[in-house]
Amino acid sequence: MHTFFVVIQHIGIIILMVEFFYVVRRKPSRHQQYMLFLILALFLNFVGYLMELQATTKNEALMAVRFLYLGKPYIALFHLLFVLRVCKVKVSSGVISALGLMHTAIVILVLTCEHHTLFYSSIEFTDSGAFPHLVLGHSLIYNLYSMVLGIYLVFLTAVCMSRYRKTQKPEERGRFAYLIMINVVTAAGFIIYLSGITRGYDITLFAYLIDSVLLAILIFREKIFRTLTLAKDLAIDSLAEGLVVVDNEEEIIYFNHKAQQIYEEISLGHAEAVLEDMDESILENRDIVRDRRIYTASSRLIEHENEYYGKMYVLTDATNSYHYAQSVKEQAEIMKELKERAESANQAKSAFVSNMSHEIRTPMNAVIGLTEVLLRKDWPAEERGYLLNIKSSGKALLDLVNDLLDFSKIEAGKFEITNDTYDFAQMLRDIQVIGNTRIGEKDVRLIMDIDEKIPRLLYGDELRVRQVIINIMNNAIKYTDEGYVTVKIKQQKRREDRVQLFISVKDTGQGIKKQDLATLFDAFTQVDLKKNKGKEGTGLGLAISRQLVELMGGELSVASEYGKGSEFYFTLWEGIESEEMTGDFSEIKELPENEEEAFTFTLPDAKILLVEDDEINQSVAQALFEPFEMQIDIAGNGREALEMVQKTQYDLIFMDHFMPVMDGVEAAGKIRALPDEYYKNVPIIALSADAVKGVREEFFAAGMNDFVSKPIVMSEISRVLQRWMPEEKVCERKS
Ligand code: ADP
Repeated sequence: MHTFFVVIQHIGIIILMVEFFYVVRRKPSRHQQYMLFLILALFLNFVGYLMELQATTKNEALMAVRFLYLGKPYIALFHLLFVLRVCKVKVSSGVISALGLMHTAIVILVLTCEHHTLFYSSIEFTDSGAFPHLVLGHSLIYNLYSMVLGIYLVFLTAVCMSRYRKTQKPEERGRFAYLIMINVVTAAGFIIYLSGITRGYDITLFAYLIDSVLLAILIFREKIFRTLTLAKDLAIDSLAEGLVVVDNEEEIIYFNHKAQQIYEEISLGHAEAVLEDMDESILENRDIVRDRRIYTASSRLIEHENEYYGKMYVLTDATNSYHYAQSVKEQAEIMKELKERAESANQAKSAFVSNMSHEIRTPMNAVIGLTEVLLRKDWPAEERGYLLNIKSSGKALLDLVNDLLDFSKIEAGKFEITNDTYDFAQMLRDIQVIGNTRIGEKDVRLIMDIDEKIPRLLYGDELRVRQVIINIMNNAIKYTDEGYVTVKIKQQKRREDRVQLFISVKDTGQGIKKQDLATLFDAFTQVDLKKNKGKEGTGLGLAISRQLVELMGGELSVASEYGKGSEFYFTLWEGIESEEMTGDFSEIKELPENEEEAFTFTLPDAKILLVEDDEINQSVAQALFEPFEMQIDIAGNGREALEMVQKTQYDLIFMDHFMPVMDGVEAAGKIRALPDEYYKNVPIIALSADAVKGVREEFFAAGMNDFVSKPIVMSEISRVLQRWMPEEKVCERKS
């Protein structure tokens, strides 16, 4: 019998060790903690009891009893706490401490039992029975303590039964039934021991061993430590998010590794400061800053079939996205600043361009205008030649300035295509005249190969179409010494109200080397410099032309064979304004290009007001207008003009743009606003050296009727006077 008990103790110790190693390697949790303590207490008890079984003297036996009592009282305590935990019965930390103290007091009483009779009333050693053992007299505290253990069992059984009855879930029912069974085993061991059947052998210990095995099985069955659970735990631990789970009692029952990194002070059970911090941050929508990292908290309820189990907090590391957002914000600010700087630089450039345009054209106006006035007089051939040279040099300089201005306007994105109705045939005629003039004495023939079916009135930007064609035509003439320059325009496609034109200029000139074709359209680029020595140019013409064609929706291309000739071509969609066809455009009457033809009429009764601030330009205009024999009054700025129109009735007003005191646009607006029909109708013609974007629109918006650019071209003045002067004032010039 004795050997049997000893073997049982050994088996018990081995089982406990296995259990211990299994449980200790599981994830920390309250279940695990209680379980570990329980195993430890049982272990001490088993070892102590084994020693007692093998003791041969009273002293040995008493030593063994003291040793086993280091564990014994705690078995019941941790059994109680563990089962209550599984039953989700909340035990306050105060109660736990009180119970812990009580059980520890028992330990102390046993350790000091030789010196008092509080626990054991008597201590004897006997050889009778199954084996030599201590016979201990039970004092009051011993009996009370045994009662407490009995109460634990009854209480636990009652709790488990009530849980069993309350729950609807089959798996929970199974769990509680199982717990009841465990209690029954303990109670049975207790009763058997008290009955004395075991003849001194403490059978309760055996019952507890069975319990702990059963509990371990419960844990397996409940899958608390299952592999998959472990895998999940591992996965959750390696999450970048912190995870904290609280039960329905606001007690932390789980947190992962990241959560522990964030809150070092976190622990299972009550960690109010941590929960408060997370709750506040969610409520106030503020970030949690810990260890120089930023987290945002969120929470979600854990509910299943309408039952509330607790809450899960998720802490997301927002540091990187915060920094990213921050840097994006900074970058955006830098970009904004750069953009603003670039824009203001661009505006400054535009303003500069506009000023340049005005400043250069104004004196050029005087040079060309006064030369023209001088040319009206009779001069010896030599002087006349000089004057003509001044005039053509002035015009060349002006062309150059215009090119530069156009280019910088395109660069600044300030260039605008202004569409209007125009006479296609008239444009061709002009181009032809310009081309022939350009050819002069050269052995080159200009061929106009024009599709006669192209509608005569088109809708588009005549100025720019004309500019591109003239540009490539002039180049062709410039780089061709003999042969032909052919301007070819075909109607390529036609839709309801639009026509696609194919425009090309082909020459039999020097051609362009293959390697030069790539850079041909670059600004300020001239190719084949050796051969072109002495041919003036800026290298801007083709760059501007290509950009203009692009702005009008086409593409300027080139095909060339070195030594044989080149062809520049592009396509263009223009609106159709009339069904009349171009026909033979060369029959159109040539515009009065030369001076005398511009002066086919006089206006001796007409009174005009010239508004111009520059004194030289005043006299240039006066001299130029002289052949029309009009009466000319002069105003030095917009304000003077405004006063003068209210004193004298004028038939027409020429209005400069930029003037001190009050500029032309403002003055025109004020005149139109005066309260009399006359002021609404008197023709106001803008005279401007300014050619920047939107300026024509500005003139028309201010109520002006027409626009003449400076330097003044007499044919333009003639056109404007014929159009806007009352017919009765126009007299045919008698030659
Ligand atoms: P430029 O003011 O020098 O004429 P462009 O931009 O109009 O500037 O032309 C650039 C270069 O392309 C010219 O210098 C010339 O070498 C070459 N080029 C242009 N048109 C022709 C052509 N029809 N035949 C031969 N070479 C040409």
